[in-house]
Amino acid sequence: MSECIFCAIVRGEVPADIVYQDERVTAFYDIHPAAPVHVLIVPNAHIARAADVTPEDAAVVGELFVAARRVAETLEVSEGYRLVVNNGRRAGQSVFHLHLHLLGGRAFTWPPG
Ligand code: 5GP
Ligand code: ZN
Repeated sequence: MSECIFCAIVRGEVPADIVYQDERVTAFYDIHPAAPVHVLIVPNAHIARAADVTPEDAAVVGELFVAARRVAETLEVSEGYRLVVNNGRRAGQSVFHLHLHLLGGRAFTWPPG
């Protein structure tokens, strides 16, 4: 997946403002923030979409949520934040490397657009 921008960020080949990284997960600020805090949390190994997640991916998908908790605590938004996964172009997915959006620092409405 050499053409994948998030794979390149994980490998350190494209600059990003990384807030958390371990062997399996990387979190970095979104380049076009939709909230005062907007962090993307990705598996280091390429998975294109939520719809492509397999039973073998269950552990790393769980680790995305653990990393989200850590990032929310570090950035002091634990009181209220939103985790979003857009699956497929019709749902707004533009980068086809699975990612959690962690949005915080403001109030959110429901349902989303
Ligand atoms: P999606 O639309 O796929 O759910 O979310 C992709 C997100 O990635 C968008 O919010 C977009 O701003 C962000 N993004 C796209 N390219 C880059 C990049 O090169 N660096 C960073 N940090 N964020 C990016
Ligand atoms: Zn990728």
